[in-house]
Amino acid sequence: TSIIKVGIVGYGNLGKGVQQAIEQNPDMELAAIFTRRDPQQLAEITGTVTEHISAAEQYIGKIDVMILCGGSATDLPEQTPQLARLFNTVDSFDTHAKIPDFFAEVDKAAQEGGTVSVISTGWDPGMFSMNRLLMQSILPEGEDYTFWGTGVSQGHSDAIRRVPGVKAGVQYTVPVQEVIDSIRGGETPQLTTREKHRRECYVVAEEGADREAITRSIVEMPNYFADYDTTVNFISEDELAAKHSGMPHGGFVIRSGRTGGGSKQIAEFGLKLDSNPEFTASVLVAYARAAFRLKHEGHKGAKTVFDIPLGHLSPKSAETLRRELL
Ligand code: NAP
Repeated sequence: TSIIKVGIVGYGNLGKGVQQAIEQNPDMELAAIFTRRDPQQLAEITGTVTEHISAAEQYIGKIDVMILCGGSATDLPEQTPQLARLFNTVDSFDTHAKIPDFFAEVDKAAQEGGTVSVISTGWDPGMFSMNRLLMQSILPEGEDYTFWGTGVSQGHSDAIRRVPGVKAGVQYTVPVQEVIDSIRGGETPQLTTREKHRRECYVVAEEGADREAITRSIVEMPNYFADYDTTVNFISEDELAAKHSGMPHGGFVIRSGRTGGGSKQIAEFGLKLDSNPEFTASVLVAYARAAFRLKHEGHKGAKTVFDIPLGHLSPKSAETLRRELL
């Protein structure tokens, strides 16, 4: 079998994670990293071939799959359709409400380019979506629950840092344990936003700042915090650096249902991640393999985790998988 040649577009947390994940997969090889920044300067950090994104076209035929590691807010809506015309791609677009429109646009580009573009992989969307589908199909009568955390939310952390008087800060999304216990115990409650998750903030205040005013601005912030029980803890800069500089995340999907004889059936899938970007990157790399296979089978267009046979993620042959894992 031939080595899959991979390109990385965008070198943030996810891009770095993809670079590391490729090292763990002997059937893959990193061809180049593409960036919008000065490639020469970035090469000192990446330690490998680093190109300006405008040079991507020169790599047609030399790269089998481009793994797109830009942000979902503004990077991917532009970059995925552009690159899907030229290469097979994989991304982790995670703005759930916009996935249908994004799919349509990427599909058009990939159909025209004759390429395969896997969109919205990762863990949510991604692994969690697969599990929601799997459990709903098997247990048509029941309730679905998705909990996130304990983990850092980048968007909420950014929102805290914009509050006047705040020097630095991190926000954790925390699932409410009592509710999870009741669902695991067989109850199927209807839950409001506030009942499912709490928000915990660790804030470094500027010297002389009004802490009560900061707390109020955070707790009452519409969209981000107002619908949740939010706690604000003031800590020192040293403590923030020592205890809150990682990017942990995770969560679980639970389906609680009943089968025909009235039996209660509970299915659960969970993740506990020390590093959200490293895990997400590892999912992207497995789907790069799947994109490569689909392309070789003659497929084209946009695909999601729902469209791809599970066996395509593995470097092992179908025969080996049947023998070892089934
Ligand atoms: P990030 O670190 O902010 O990187 C995003 C882009 O910003 C990079 O591709 C890079 O592009 C640019 N960049 C990074 N560091 C920079 C710096 N120091 N100076 C200037 N530009 C810089 O974001 P991320 O943590 O990798 O996450 C990317 C996206 O992944 C998120 O927006 C999220 O939507 C998605 N995600 C999805 C899942 C899921 O489960 N589906 C999970 C986690 C994350 P250039 O190299 O071109 O400058």
